[in-house]
Order: sequence, then C-alpha cells, then structure tokens
Amino acid sequence: MAGLYIHIPFCKQACHYCDFHFSTQLQSMTPVLVGIGHELELRKDYLKGEPIDTVYFGGGSPSLIPVHELEKILYQIECLFPGKKREITLEANPDDLTHHSLGAWRGMGIDRLSLGIQSFQDEILKAYNRAHSAKQAKQAIQLARDTGFEKFSIDLIYGYPHVDHSLWQKDLKEALTLDPGHLSAYALTIEPKTAFGNWVKKGKFSPANEEFVASQFEWLQEECEKSGYDQYEISNFCQPHQEALHNSNYWKRIPYLGIGPSAHSFDGTSRGFNPPSNPGYLKKLNEGKLPFVLENMDKEGLVNEEILTGLRTRWGLNTESLNTRHQIDLLQLKQAPLEKLTNLEMIYTRAKTIYLTKKGQLLADSIASELFIDSNDTQ
Ligand code: SF4
Repeated sequence: MAGLYIHIPFCKQACHYCDFHFSTQLQSMTPVLVGIGHELELRKDYLKGEPIDTVYFGGGSPSLIPVHELEKILYQIECLFPGKKREITLEANPDDLTHHSLGAWRGMGIDRLSLGIQSFQDEILKAYNRAHSAKQAKQAIQLARDTGFEKFSIDLIYGYPHVDHSLWQKDLKEALTLDPGHLSAYALTIEPKTAFGNWVKKGKFSPANEEFVASQFEWLQEECEKSGYDQYEISNFCQPHQEALHNSNYWKRIPYLGIGPSAHSFDGTSRGFNPPSNPGYLKKLNEGKLPFVLENMDKEGLVNEEILTGLRTRWGLNTESLNTRHQIDLLQLKQAPLEKLTNLEMIYTRAKTIYLTKKGQLLADSIASELFIDSNDTQ
C-alpha cells in the first residue's frame, strides 16, 4: 500500500508563523493545477504499481481550489490509481467552508477534513494573521458535522507568548468540548523566513521561553488523556480508531508519491522532492522535464531519520527491524546512552522497541540525537 500527497501552494494571506511553501498570487492557481495534473501523469509509475490507499491534499490551502478543479484532480487520481481509498483528506481553513463546498467535497469521496483552526481566541488569530475569526472556527466544525463529515481533525498551535497560560487553556478546553475525533497540536516555532522570524531579528517580538511552552505541552498531554484521547504521535491525539491513516503510514515509512511544488516523495528506498517554487515547477513541466530532485541520503541519514520519526510515535523505534534493514544493532551500539536515558526515565524498552516516556517526549529531539549514528558506526 502507498500514499499520495498533493501540495496546493496557494493561500489567501501569509500567516505570521508559516514557512510552508505557498503563494498569495491566486491568479496563477489554474496553471499550477494543470501542472499538477501533468505531473500526476508523468509520475504515475513512481510507486511501481503499489496501490494507493490514502490521498492527502495539503498546502497551502487546498480548500481554496474551485470545486470543479478539485473534482478533475480526483477523477484523474481515480483513473491513474484505481481502487478503493481508505482515506481522502483535505486540509481546510474555516473561512473557506460553505454548505456548498462541504457537500461537493463529500460527493467527491473526500471523507476527512484537517481543519486549520489554530486558536479559538480572536486575539491570537489576529496575532497569527489568520484569515478567520474565532466565531468562524466554531461554525466550521458545526458546518462540517452538519454536512456529514464524521472524520475531522482540529489543528491547534500552543506556545504563543502571553502573560499566562489562560489562552491556551481556553483553546484546549474549547477544542475538547467540541469532541473532534482527532486533534493535532504543534508548538509555535519561529522560522527565520516568516514575519515572526523577521520581528524577532529586529527585536520586535519575543518568543515564549522553553519552560512556558513545555508547561503547555504537559497540559495538552494531561487534558487529552483525561478526555480519552490516545497520543499516537507526539503532536497528534485521537479517539479510538481515528488515527490519520495517511500520516501514520508516513511515520511507518510506507512509500508515498508527492505531487506539486515542494512536495516530497519516498519510494521505500530513496527520497526526493519538488523544489518550492511555483514558476520553477511550471517551467520544468513546460520543458517536458520532471521538477523532481533525488535526495542523496546515505545510510546514516536514513537510519537517523527513522530514529527521530520512530521515537515520536506510540509504535516506538523497533530496533530489530532497523537491524534487519540497515544492519545496525542500535541496542548494542548505543548501550551507554540508552542505559543513561532509561535511568533518567526518559525512555523504556520492550521487546527490542524503544519508547519515549511522557517526560522524554518533552526532549524528543535531543534524545533522538543522542541515539543518532555517524559514519564510524556504519563501517
Ligand atoms: S498556515 Fe496554512 S493558511 Fe497560513 S500561510 Fe501557512 S499554509 Fe497558508
């Protein structure tokens, strides 16, 4: 089985924290959508015939695509990759939802929405430069339910610098009261090429300190647990059987084809990406070339990526399968750091699989880097 990711690189306006690839030049949407259709055709054999069972429209803002254009893409997907899809997800912004669009999406087979809510507080939405209001955020969820969407996820951001934790506590309470099947919550990170990044450089904005953000993460873990949500990945929580199948497959290293500017692909052994430029993407396709760049990942790169991803999930890092595929016995190679991390109650190991404890989740990246291998380990 495999996944298909389609990147729609357009947004109405730039959120102040966002460093995904997107353009606000909506007039170039039609040529890019034509390009996406062209690329789909050119790369249909990338997965070597592996059936596609999950489709994910991400962005950018896929909810901006006119209904008839989205229908065309889905029709093409069905022709090129026939067969039942277990999940078709569309990322949607609350301000793009209408009865008409939601009904049309359902009719096309889209059965899951990932709603970019981010916050239920107007004050924060404004600070993030989101295009929707708190009222629209709540209405979007009701609208999705009314139109029959049973599967949807609410995306939230925590860690906005504020005098106390009250806004985040309100956000989380609001989200859990709405009883979504799935919740994704990411800490606000300051990326250099964003408005926030620019303001930090000029001394006009100060991000929250680590302890402040960590407290909000702990609050998130506790409240989700109390409400019966399973934390199946550090930033992702779900009610029973509501895991995002597409994203879970990605974390389990199941191959996927990524289409559109900036999309990444993985065929099971190698990875690659389309550069993040809409004009560059179209230029390549118009020249009859693929906009795809193969990533040269050595063994260390592949293993370390697997360590980082595996540790973040509830399935843990299976060292036995790592050893079978890469001939790296991590339990032996990293005996000392593993012992230290176990004693510090950051990790635990069961049946040769390493898991992060709740405490360890706060330091996931630095724990992973303690277990990373280098070229000496592969000789
Ligand atoms: S956060 Fe989403 S809506 Fe905002 S600019 Fe980024 S991709 Fe667009």
